[in-house]
Parts: sequence; structure tokens; C-alpha cells
Amino acid sequence: MAVEINGKNFVIEPRQNVLANQQCQYFRDFDDVALTRDESKCIGCGLCRTACLQYNNLGVPVETKVGDCTYFRPEGKLKVSESNCTRCGQCVMVCPTGALHEKENIEDVKMALADPDKIVVAQTAPSSRVSLAESFGGEPGEILEGQMVAALKKLGFDYVFDVNLGADFTTVEEAYDLKDRLEDGTTPLFTSCCPARVKYIEDFHSDLIGNITSVRSPQQCLGVLINTYFAEKLKLDYKKIIVVSIMPCVAKKFESRREGEDKSGYWDVDWVLTTREFIKMVKEAKIDLRNIEPAEFDAPLGQASGAGAIYGASGGVMESAIRTFADIFHGEKIEKIDYEEFRGMEGIKKATLNIGSKGAPFGGGQDLRVAVATGLANAEKIIDEIRNGQKYDYVEVMACPGGCVGGGGQPKPQTLAVINKRREALYKIDKNLPIRKAHENPIVQQVYKEFLGCAGSELAQKYLHTNYNVRQARICQT
Ligand code: SF4
Ligand code: SF4
Repeated sequence: MAVEINGKNFVIEPRQNVLANQQCQYFRDFDDVALTRDESKCIGCGLCRTACLQYNNLGVPVETKVGDCTYFRPEGKLKVSESNCTRCGQCVMVCPTGALHEKENIEDVKMALADPDKIVVAQTAPSSRVSLAESFGGEPGEILEGQMVAALKKLGFDYVFDVNLGADFTTVEEAYDLKDRLEDGTTPLFTSCCPARVKYIEDFHSDLIGNITSVRSPQQCLGVLINTYFAEKLKLDYKKIIVVSIMPCVAKKFESRREGEDKSGYWDVDWVLTTREFIKMVKEAKIDLRNIEPAEFDAPLGQASGAGAIYGASGGVMESAIRTFADIFHGEKIEKIDYEEFRGMEGIKKATLNIGSKGAPFGGGQDLRVAVATGLANAEKIIDEIRNGQKYDYVEVMACPGGCVGGGGQPKPQTLAVINKRREALYKIDKNLPIRKAHENPIVQQVYKEFLGCAGSELAQKYLHTNYNVRQARICQT
């Protein structure tokens, strides 16, 4: 049997049967918030190391001999939490035995759903809705948005909101961050919505932490708004609200427990389920996902722009931010919406931008120089260029192949062809939506008007930004 890693086939070669060999001493690590590692299931194939090298050029799992057996331990240590693992989860995608696995939170979510005192709110990532069908006899890229919402309602969730809306808030705040930094001369600005990439910078390039935007990721932005804006609007006790994210991502579990991700007073996101965990719950409940009557996201946090939808694809975060940035920069609506230069499955995409029909002089005739990378190995190449004097203004990095559509929490098996079909589906969703720019989303405008004030306001800083790089408030333009 073979498994595809980064477009190449690798044969699974079992080297051991740990449970059948009395000489094998094995360790089980269930401490980490995102990943579990059970050496009793490890056949020593080494594919986890191959994936880590292929995508991230890291090779965190290191071949380690213990007695008669060979394990792939995180840098020779026993625990994932003690290592430089970014939690991208690409090792989980290729591990043939489940020795590496996301830390499951299904039972935690079921307990919340069974508690009559709790208000359980789901928020769903863009990429899950285009991959779910694969586990129910459908094709990659089949869009099951309404069916996903209906299934969550059937499972007992009280409200279902859309993380694509969280992405719209990230976009608006980040577009202003980009504008500020161009004016300050403090580019390049790095996107922050991939927690694996953030951890990579923290671990390996700490001198560049200040370049990461302070804007929180879509799941954290929407999580805090559910606990604050939504709770206040419906006069709910936020302490009773349990926010559950459905994510294509393993690292989002790690992100939700980072220091400072409790700006509402409790964790802004209580539990993260991968797409696979959600599928497990749907199957257990015997819900026929492809044939269930579709339902709509709930008000008031259920309407997103097309810009929010494409966050799941490599280049999508940048395209969303540039759509908004172009309008803010020129102080008027720019006709151009589609930025083909950021799209596609290439590992690195670069462009020098002319925004709209007006040309692109930025503070002294400078163009906007951008780069998009997928996989941390490609990110490293961009960082090398920056260190060697290459100028970039805005850099997007997603750790997983093709972006979150190829995330470590998505259905298996995952090939580049499968990921590409999911990616195309996100652009289809975007194209068919009436609102395709984040700042034009009426819900975004309403939340700023009723609650946050302006982009970058004191309240926006408090709730929509992280602590490592506080930016100035600016005049209200949304
Ligand atoms: S953890 Fe999984 S992928 Fe890694 S060597 Fe063991 S069986 Fe293979
Ligand atoms: S690319 Fe997306 S799925 Fe992969 S680690 Fe980053 S946020 Fe998670």
C-alpha cells in the first residue's frame, strides 16, 4: 500500500508489531491539547517523519530505538508538548495505524450538549463544508453547507454560526494593519490565521514575531464575539455558552488554548472538533448527511462574504485582505474583486500589485509586493529571501498543502487532486455570493456600529487582536 505525500507516492513498510513483541517498551502521550501519540500502535514506517520533512522541512519525528523496537519520537523526546511540533497534523494524515491522532474532544462536546444548563454554539470553518461529502459517498468539492448546518442542529447545537464571518472581521482589521504598516514602514506584514505557522515563527524566527499581524484568527474572532456581542444581544449568560469549532485543522485545538485566547473571561473557543471528528459524530447519530434537508446559519452571526469563504484556500487570506485594503486605500469602491495571481496549488506565489484601475503608488511610488506560501518549507524560502534583502509588504503562509482545504483534520485519504477540488469549490461559493468584500458585509457593519465602534478601536483591539503587537486605533471607515 502507498500513501501520497506532497504529490509523491510513498510505500507503507511495516517494520514491527509492538503488541506482539514482549521486548518492545512503548510510551503513550495523551497530554497534548492537539495531538496524541500511542507507540503501541506504531509500525515504525517513518511516514510521519517523511510528511514533516516534505511539507515543513522540519522532521520533528526522529527515529529512536527502544529495546527491540523503533519509534518516531518528537525530536527524541517522549511528549509532543515538549517539542517544536507545530501541530499542523500532516503526520496524522499519513500515519497508517492511528499511532498519531488528533486529541479527540467528542466526549467533551457530547457532555456539553447533554447539559440543559449550557447553550452550545457551533461555528464552522470554510473548508469543512467542501470535504464532508467524501465520507458519505460524495465527491471532493461537493458543497454541503446547508446539510452541515442541519446536521449540527440535529446533533443538538442551539445555534450554528459561520466562521467565514469571523474571517470577515479578521480581514477588516488586517487590511487596516497593512495600511498602518505601509505608512510606518514596518512591513512585511505576516498573516496570523494559521497557528502552525505562528508557532513556527515563535520557535524558529522569534525576531520576526513583531511582523505577525496582531489580528486574531477567524475562529478566535467569532468565538469572542459569540461570548460578548451575541450574549449581550440575546441577554444570555456568557458563562453558560460553550463554543465548539468545526475545523479542518488539528492546530486550531492548540490555538484555542494559547495564553490570552480567553478575552471574554473564559476560553473564547471551548472545544475544537476536526472535520473527521464531526463526521464521526454524524455517522454515530446515523444522519444521512447528503440527503438531510439543508438549514441556514442562525442570525445574528450567520452571514459571511465571499471573501470569508476563500480563507480556506492558499492565497485566500491575502485576496480577502487586498479586496478590502484596495477600497480603504483609495477611499472608494474599487471594481476589481478577483485576484487570480494569488490562486492555485503552487507552493509559492508572488506578485507586485496594481490595485484597481488607479495604479499602485504606496507612499513614495512603491508597489505592493506580496508573497503566498503553503508549507513551512516554502515559508522558510520566503524568510530566507527577506533576510537576504528581498522586500515584501505582505506575506501569507499556510502550513498545509493548498491551505486549510488540505488541513490535518480533513477526511482521509488526501491527495493534491482531492485538495484542488475542495479549493475550487470555495471559489465557487465566493463567486455565487452577493457580497464578496468583507467590509461590505452588513453583519460586519452592524457589529462595528452596535458594539465594536471602529476597526482598530479600543474594543476591537481588546477582542479582535492578540497581545503581542498592539496597534493604534484609527478613524472609523467601515
Ligand atoms: S507514528 Fe505512525 S507514521 Fe510514524 S512511524 Fe509510527 S506508524 Fe508510521
Ligand atoms: S493551514 Fe489551515 S489547517 Fe493547516 S495548520 Fe494552518 S490553519 Fe490549520
